[in-house]
Amino acid sequence: MKYPFLVLKDVNAPYEETLIKAATEVIKSGWYINGKHVNALETEVANLCETKYAVAVSNGLDALRLIVRAYKEMGLFHDNDEIIMSANTYVATALSVSAEGLKPVFVDMATDTLNINTSLIEQAITARTVAIMPVHLYGSPCWDENIINIAQKHNFKVIEDNAQAIGAKANIPGFNGTFATGGLGDAAGISFYPTKNLGALGDAGMVTTNDKQLADCVRALANYGTDRRYHNIYQGSNCRMDEIQAAMLLAKLPFLNNENNRRRTLVEIYNTHINNPAIIKPLIFDDMHQVWHQYPLRVTNRDQFIKYMAEHGVATDIIYPAPVYQQPCYEKDYPQMLCHEAELFANEVVCIPIGAHITNDDAKNIAIIINNFK
Ligand SMILES: *Cc1c(COP(=O)(O)O)cnc(C)c1O
Repeated sequence: MKYPFLVLKDVNAPYEETLIKAATEVIKSGWYINGKHVNALETEVANLCETKYAVAVSNGLDALRLIVRAYKEMGLFHDNDEIIMSANTYVATALSVSAEGLKPVFVDMATDTLNINTSLIEQAITARTVAIMPVHLYGSPCWDENIINIAQKHNFKVIEDNAQAIGAKANIPGFNGTFATGGLGDAAGISFYPTKNLGALGDAGMVTTNDKQLADCVRALANYGTDRRYHNIYQGSNCRMDEIQAAMLLAKLPFLNNENNRRRTLVEIYNTHINNPAIIKPLIFDDMHQVWHQYPLRVTNRDQFIKYMAEHGVATDIIYPAPVYQQPCYEKDYPQMLCHEAELFANEVVCIPIGAHITNDDAKNIAIIINNFK
């Protein structure tokens, strides 16, 4: 492929020297867990997400799952309670809920934002609903008056799946100012999976929140349920972040803004230059500071498109090929489920390369290739 979908080696190449220096420092320090790199990263990410607290954990799934578990330990969530989320998301969003004995309730997506259709949330509420889990999918903030008002009215927790949107901001009319994702709701989970906008060199994640009790609870749960040495208040697990991953992330964090701006530039080029009527492009929202983890197109004859793109050297990826409730692991639990827009979208979505390995000229060439697709 002339234009591969993603080249992780290239993503990290500009930082190679700093990464090696940071890794060497950790190796020589003899301190590999719960040390100064993890502490420093927590401070940096809390600042970035405009929250008081950040708790480093093992990955994005655990970040979300530990929030759900912590609310259970705090007596706010119970087994079989329901959490509302978009049907169009990564399976991990749902797993973080069902793994703790709660039920993911899927709501159809909106075709403009590609996130949950917030006007459908109210009708999905039952006596068991305890939270909404907005997913900032593809790096587009999922945040509006509906979410704010419904959460307030029903006293729901709002848990952001911020796995794909670190550095994004939302500006809601009537709620003056722009606010960082990760600090919009009551708590949020970030993923530092290597392919994400800020990727570790392995697995890592983070919980951000303004709630001290929640932060303390997540920290304890991620460390065997320990509140002080050899004293376990919860039946916790081991979900800590390694010092070496924190050091890698600290080395890359100063460049996140540049990386996100690069993605924005590429999206502007794609959106300006792609003018094939057979292709639906994602929308740029002026009131959102999107960070474009992915650039999703819609094409009705997707199979032909993917084949055509491959023949012209452009790799593509389907993110995601099915709504979560259609995954074999959830299928039997949702026999009647139908999210029409999410199913249509899953049949038509196709992502094209975006990120550090794509130059402006590459993007223009890819747009020309797309425009010549019939
Ligand atoms: C990547 C991702 C996760 C899970 O993060 P991991 O670090 O891979 O566990 C959760 N939700 C969404 C939307 C993601 O993209």
